[in-house]
Amino acid sequence: MQKLEKIYEGKAKILYTTEDPSLLIQYFKDDATAFNAQKKGTIEQKGVMNNRIAARIFEHLKDNGIATHFVECLNDREMLVKRVAIVPLEVIVRNRAAGSLCRLLGLAEGATLACPTLEFCYKDDALGDPQINEYHIRALRYATDDEVKYIKDMAFRINDILKKFFLGLKIELIDFKLEFGRVNDRIILADEISPDTCRLWEVGTGNKLDKDRFRRDLGNIEGAYQEVLRRVSSH
Ligand code: UDP
Repeated sequence: MQKLEKIYEGKAKILYTTEDPSLLIQYFKDDATAFNAQKKGTIEQKGVMNNRIAARIFEHLKDNGIATHFVECLNDREMLVKRVAIVPLEVIVRNRAAGSLCRLLGLAEGATLACPTLEFCYKDDALGDPQINEYHIRALRYATDDEVKYIKDMAFRINDILKKFFLGLKIELIDFKLEFGRVNDRIILADEISPDTCRLWEVGTGNKLDKDRFRRDLGNIEGAYQEVLRRVSSH
């Protein structure tokens, strides 16, 4: 499958059209950003590792009945995906408090949550992806009520599947971000799931195996991504 035209370039990925109008090539870059792109850098081989990690996770989700845009890995940095119209929402699921939830509510990092939580953000870099609620989504027609219900159900199901998957690899899934897309009147999971979009803490040590190593200059970023790749590939 050949790359034809670049149709989108984001912070970590590029999308290209192919000869099949229903399929795109998703290319993973080494570029890393944090704090709404105020911090920029590169993580060596990140694109290769995230391509492989995301592919493995999408395969596992498919095996568990979740429809995703993933078709197949093409090479080290590229996967073939279904072309979707992205719903302009970031869906964040949390199992423990970290990051912006700690800032919002004055919680200690790692604080226990009695049940998983879900937040919506409006996907807009210029606005810094502001948090919104379901009334905003309805009023601005970002998604229909049925779509919102479906997205929430899918997000919690994905959380259940991935929590178990990672726990089997001695990793605790702290939180993660999902994006969904519309195709043929359906909603499917899109974008990526990787250490860029999840918080992953090693069971026992609490070592961070995710982008927080880059955000907070904790060192050994590549090693952490490599370790996640090694573990998800072993499953
Ligand atoms: N996240 C993401 N992209 C975003 C915002 C958040 O992938 O634009 C992920 C982030 O890596 C973490 C989870 O969503 O796993 C929750 O992020 P949070 O709201 O705590 O924001 P942060 O403090 O990381 O900016």
